[in-house]
Amino acid sequence: MAAAPRTSLPRNRYDFHSHTYLTDGEESASSMWYAADRIGHRALAITDHVALQDPGPILDTLRAEARAWEGTDLLTLVGVEVTMVPPRYIPEAVRAARRAGAEIVIVHGETVAEPVFAGTNRAAVELNEVDVLAHPGFITVEEAELAKAHDVVLEVSARTLHGRANGHVVRTALEVGNDLVVDSDAHKTEQLVSTEMARQIARGAGLPESHLARVLEETPRRLLHRCGKA
Ligand SMILES: [Zn+2]
Ligand SMILES: [Zn+2]
Repeated sequence: MAAAPRTSLPRNRYDFHSHTYLTDGEESASSMWYAADRIGHRALAITDHVALQDPGPILDTLRAEARAWEGTDLLTLVGVEVTMVPPRYIPEAVRAARRAGAEIVIVHGETVAEPVFAGTNRAAVELNEVDVLAHPGFITVEEAELAKAHDVVLEVSARTLHGRANGHVVRTALEVGNDLVVDSDAHKTEQLVSTEMARQIARGAGLPESHLARVLEETPRRLLHRCGKA
């Protein structure tokens, strides 16, 4: 599917977390990327859920669909969200995804909305191979310090239920000095968020205006670079 050239909006939205019908999303990767392109995304990662199964088939399908966007202005990232894995097996799941070619690996953190194993945040932030700890809920200062030490970016979530703890995540990150991103965790195209919406979510969670450029542009660009995309 080729996207029509789109010049009316600035292309400045970066989103590192979304899903397709390969797991619990509702639409295809192509539909997600097409919609993202239309609302001004520079990059959208598809991060479908994996646990301890072979991540290869999901990544192969996403990679095949991503070929449609080669050479366009939209950067596609093909990855996984390691979800509901007992903490002692998280390193194995993360490394299996890397071996299978995941360009980005995020971990489904200890959100207030969908409980996962206690210790998930801690296991994720101890791994350099994790790019983003998604919706980390009531993350502790100690976990945030480990995240900083291992360069794991913390997520402010646009998803309503996960987002209940956004204020806590922002406050902790400001205290510790963590890098943050604002991700949609979209499960269908209408849940993708524009730059303006991402800005409002970050400000609403207590992020000072002076930190917006770092969260919405500088950290995403650095993350893209680390994922081999820019
Ligand atoms: Zn999640
Ligand atoms: Zn998710």
